[in-house]
Amino acid sequence: MTRYAMAIDIQRCTGCQNCIVACKTENNVPDGYHRSWIAERVYGAYPSVRIEMLSQRCNHCEIPPCVACCPTGASHIHARDGIVVIDRAKCIGCKICLTACPYGARYIHPDGYGDKCTFCLPRIEKGLDPACVSVCSTHCMHFGDLDDPESEVSRLLLTRSSHVLLPEAGTKPHVHYLR
Ligand code: SF4
Ligand code: SF4
Repeated sequence: MTRYAMAIDIQRCTGCQNCIVACKTENNVPDGYHRSWIAERVYGAYPSVRIEMLSQRCNHCEIPPCVACCPTGASHIHARDGIVVIDRAKCIGCKICLTACPYGARYIHPDGYGDKCTFCLPRIEKGLDPACVSVCSTHCMHFGDLDDPESEVSRLLLTRSSHVLLPEAGTKPHVHYLR
């Protein structure tokens, strides 16, 4: 099975929001909702301040609590790509998955179903990068197959130090931040 993952170089991210705009446009995300967002982290105190920009979205966790808790099977791991997706036809909009996700990655679409990042599944099925990756102004976002040792993502994770968000949650996120 393919296990798609993302590696984001936080040394290069400027927080320009190109990725966020591309995501909203590509996926018709309604006004007032988002599938991705930029979190700003500030370290130190003036005059020694360091600001980190983190482009965030669903982490496509390997052990996803949002899938385990879904009462209808709407939330599931995509058999071919290893990403976490929601079957709109099966979703009853109960919001249990919103509570289970430690990253706040999901919302209920005004039409009544759960929604979140899919790594732009329709694009990756055509061999394209997710929209956010394709528009990144500093090329700090990388996307590929963790099970392919030759992929850029595998190579970067092997050669650079990195971290994931909330490792203590035990979800094994597939969005990695390169330091
Ligand atoms: Fe599920 Fe949240 Fe992990 Fe995405 S980030 S797979 S919504 S637990
Ligand atoms: Fe499953 Fe939909 Fe309920 Fe989420 S809102 S737990 S996807 S049925």
